[in-house]
Amino acid sequence: MKKLRTALQRGCTSLTQWFDTDYGNDDLAAIRAKPDKVEFIRVLPFIFLHLGCLGIFLAGWSWTAVAFAVVLYLVRMFAITGFYHRYFSHKTFNTSRPAQFLFALLGATAVQRGPLWWSYQHRHHHKHSDEAEDAHSPHQHGFWWSHIGWITSARNFPTDYSQVRDLAKFPELVFLNRFDTLVPFLFAVALFTLGHFLGAFFPTLGVTSWQLLVWGFFISTTVLFHATSSINSLAHLLGKRRYETGDDSRNSFLLALITLGEGWHNNHHRHMSTVRQGFYWWEIDISYYCLKMLSWTGLIWNLKPVPLAAYETNHPLRARKNLSANHSSRA
Ligand SMILES: [Zn+2]
Ligand SMILES: [Zn+2]
Repeated sequence: MKKLRTALQRGCTSLTQWFDTDYGNDDLAAIRAKPDKVEFIRVLPFIFLHLGCLGIFLAGWSWTAVAFAVVLYLVRMFAITGFYHRYFSHKTFNTSRPAQFLFALLGATAVQRGPLWWSYQHRHHHKHSDEAEDAHSPHQHGFWWSHIGWITSARNFPTDYSQVRDLAKFPELVFLNRFDTLVPFLFAVALFTLGHFLGAFFPTLGVTSWQLLVWGFFISTTVLFHATSSINSLAHLLGKRRYETGDDSRNSFLLALITLGEGWHNNHHRHMSTVRQGFYWWEIDISYYCLKMLSWTGLIWNLKPVPLAAYETNHPLRARKNLSANHSSRA
């Protein structure tokens, strides 16, 4: 009996250690000093995620399953852009502690690790954009490294809590960050169960548990991952630059549509503390519109506006007018 208890305790401890992303990260400086290298063990989750998409050949499809994939893509993209990025990383608005936890929980379903890791990496990117230290600069390390490779390198795996002290003081956020596979796992199980329930009680929907798992989790999450990653890779390669920012961030209408506003990346690199990334009405920024609506409910407040300086020096229409004025005066 005693032996069984000890074995169970040992089993629980090693299981906890396996899922605890902070375990073994004590010597942070040594881990961060390691050279960049693709680690096969960290590539496995991505292979698993992509292979899961092939499940459509077994599970088939239905309009309900496709609708779930699209809606979950949009909701979780908003969770990443509105909460992981504009709230946790940049604090561009305020909210209450319970709402902050819910935002972190929703963000964690996107399978892009915990809110503190995400914020730490992102703040580091802003500090060293397109320099040698930037973990995902396409100019320093090439397109594929900036898109996916950097996440598989051991040196980018731990969270440096000293860089996110404002978030690390909340134990509930630290817990979500440490056990970052827990929420995605429960999310996948919930989808599978919901599919079973819908199939049994609403057969006209034509959906099954496997369909919801494949479409709602694997396909939706894979597309979400590549769309988010395109901001690290493509948004530093393609598009126009309005501001001189010392890096190669760019504005792209197409990327802004796909990522609900994050494509206005050059605007964001220049004025990162504003909640808005599209500075003009034609710069579609769906995350901002959603956050604005959320502020009407009182759930979030103190949305930081675009500073006037952003318009004074770089208004594209004014710039065009000045150009033509100079041209006509010369003529
Ligand atoms: Zn960037
Ligand atoms: Zn940012």
